[in-house]
Amino acid sequence: METGQQNLLLRGIGVSPGIIIGKTFLFAPDDIEIPVITLSSKAEINREVDRFKQALEKSRDNLRAVRKEVERKKQKEARYIIDAQLLILEDKLLVESIIRTIRDKGIDAASAVKEAIRHLSRSFDDVSDEYLKERKTELDYIGERIIRNILGTKRHDLAAIREPSIVVAHDLSPADTANLDTSVVIGFVTNTGGKTSHTAIMARALEIPSVVGLEKVTKEVQNGDVIIVDGTIGVVIIRPNAETLRSYSEKKQMYEQLKQELFQYKDLPAETPDGYHIRLLANVELVEEVAAILEHGAEGIGLYRTEFLYLNRKDLPSEEEQFGIYKKVIKTIAPYPVTIRTLDLGGDKFLSHLDLVEEMNPVLGLRAIRLCLKEVNIFKTQLRALLRASAFGELKMLFPMISGMQEIYQIKEILHELKRDLKHAGIPFNPSVQIGIMIEIPSAAAIADLLAGEVDFFSIGTNDLIQYTLAIDRVNEHVSYLYNPLHPSVIRLIKNIIESAHRNGIEVVMCGEMAGEPLYLPILLGMGIDELSMNPLCILKIKKIMRSISYRESRDFVTTVDCLKTAEEIEAFMKLEMKKRFPAAFDINGS
Ligand code: PEP
Ligand code: MG
Repeated sequence: METGQQNLLLRGIGVSPGIIIGKTFLFAPDDIEIPVITLSSKAEINREVDRFKQALEKSRDNLRAVRKEVERKKQKEARYIIDAQLLILEDKLLVESIIRTIRDKGIDAASAVKEAIRHLSRSFDDVSDEYLKERKTELDYIGERIIRNILGTKRHDLAAIREPSIVVAHDLSPADTANLDTSVVIGFVTNTGGKTSHTAIMARALEIPSVVGLEKVTKEVQNGDVIIVDGTIGVVIIRPNAETLRSYSEKKQMYEQLKQELFQYKDLPAETPDGYHIRLLANVELVEEVAAILEHGAEGIGLYRTEFLYLNRKDLPSEEEQFGIYKKVIKTIAPYPVTIRTLDLGGDKFLSHLDLVEEMNPVLGLRAIRLCLKEVNIFKTQLRALLRASAFGELKMLFPMISGMQEIYQIKEILHELKRDLKHAGIPFNPSVQIGIMIEIPSAAAIADLLAGEVDFFSIGTNDLIQYTLAIDRVNEHVSYLYNPLHPSVIRLIKNIIESAHRNGIEVVMCGEMAGEPLYLPILLGMGIDELSMNPLCILKIKKIMRSISYRESRDFVTTVDCLKTAEEIEAFMKLEMKKRFPAAFDINGS
């Protein structure tokens, strides 16, 4: 019998799109109840220290076994996380602080682990950085694993799921998902996590709907409850009533029909009815995602973010490792082109490797190309790997966060030196490999005409361009209402970038989120964008709309937009026109 509030709606972060309705499998309660036991003799204390050490050893063995499994399944990202967890287990400071807690406080091993982990964890509480938040999660896992090994209790096993279920958990680690049967797990829902958490990556790779960051979904759901997961808009409805079930079943059917219908567009050209073609490309973050992009109709990779190669580990990726990955990506996508962006990290994400100063304002700080030009050896290692990989297909190199000409001169000088070395060493590379820059800082947008004379292509990064133009922190929910790609200042900058590029005979791709949003498509087409690169799941949707809007009409849209004065006016105009002209296309968005 079901208990608890019916039709309870929770909002989180939709990280893998689609709608699913099903029964829940409530997995791994987030907090194990442990009564604190006070120890009365030295012998008892020594025994507890031994229990802790044995549990530590067992935890290492467990994780090594999981590592083998994820390696067998070639889940590289998962392997990095397991490696990071193994490193935490070996951390002397952590081990010593637990033993000290047992000895000094005279409490049992499990309670001491809990206390020490809680203490360490607390230092991460105030960070907003997503990467560092993930480290806190790993620390919590480690704590839970050791405690379970001390108490001899087992964490639930997802391999035990026999019937189609939506997994509801505090969070899921690679160790949890390594053994799951992908034919019965139909959705993931978690309390914690963000767009790049392990659960999100797994859900996208398995193409199952997922919502994370729901905070207390494990408290609200009971095992076997029926729930609705809408991974597109980040909503979960617990114990839906008959009415909600009916409307969501219809929505789900419609979504699936549209998905099916969109699939027909996979092999059709991305062109307008009056023959204007632009290339639709995919944004990719992990080597594991690469093969699937062709299934989504991509004609290449327009943005390969290399940050993931550097995260979740304590060492830096070697030239050889990077070369292997880039080569694999290029060969998988050939004959289509691959644009690989050099490292775009901020100072605080690098703490484990480098001793960089703490910054008050990291987004305006030593980030991306600035960091690379300072830590030039890291940069050179990546560039050598890229140059070597350029011999294996159509590689384009892309440099992030360019603010002026000087940075391009510096990059070119380094490339020149590396090419000379490779040539001397007889190592093959493409001497005329294309180089492009991200235009995502207003200063670069303003001097686009100068920059265009120096590079082979531009890539507009609207995520940052909007952030810096409107002075809106892109991850700050308090000002998100002001974050609008249709602000006239943004439209004008984009127009200037495209016109300056074309006057200098180079092409422009857009790779920020704006590129995958149907509402903006006519404006971008009308302004003459050459390529759009987006989340692969958006490609067919964009292609479908493109095939029903003429280039001529798009130019008219731009003429009208140019005369409007506010983002609100432009948005209202676009919505009205798009709904009027293409009602079917706009159903896709649910708008
Ligand atoms: C952008 O800024 O638009 C972009 C594509 O880069 P990132 O989102 O990685 O900063
Ligand atoms: Mg950016």
